[in-house]
Amino acid sequence: MKDEQLLRLALDNGAAKAAVIPQSAVVLSASFFDICKANQCGNFGKCWMCPPDVGPIEELMARVRAYPRGLLYQTIAPLEDSFDIEGMGAAGKAHAKVSQNIETAARAAGLGDHFHLSAGGCRLCPRCAKVDDLPCRHPDRALPPMEGAGIDVYRTTKSTDLKYINGPNTVTYFGLLLLGAEG
Ligand code: SF4
Repeated sequence: MKDEQLLRLALDNGAAKAAVIPQSAVVLSASFFDICKANQCGNFGKCWMCPPDVGPIEELMARVRAYPRGLLYQTIAPLEDSFDIEGMGAAGKAHAKVSQNIETAARAAGLGDHFHLSAGGCRLCPRCAKVDDLPCRHPDRALPPMEGAGIDVYRTTKSTDLKYINGPNTVTYFGLLLLGAEG
């Protein structure tokens, strides 16, 4: 798929902005395991797509490195103020929906081998099956967060015109659709 088609795919499915980046622009660090372990988001050990259950971070980083390019996209949502936890949660759910829509469109367009990462836990189910020690309900649709695979989102945005922060009283989330050579 050409870069323009990929950008269109992201924007048509709800992304605010997107960029096609080479593999070399994806910044990785295994230190994100410890950042996730600090559990500021509350998902550590509570989601099949988050550490430690998503798998060893070194293996995920190697998987990320295997894809030659990626479609980096973002959603931007307004907040009432910087303490608007409810607004952040709603924006996170809306972002997860955008990621799922992009995934559906990518599959419909015949995109081959790809690795799709989103933000802050899978969020496909209202309550992840992991919390109840049950198997993942949708292993073919579940998306891991970028940080869980060791991606430094902030530094990865630096080579693009996607801003990591988009002004006061907004929240920005990112996703990355990594594409194989045929993608
Ligand atoms: S699809 Fe459901 S059960 Fe599977 S990781 Fe996502 S939220 Fe959890």
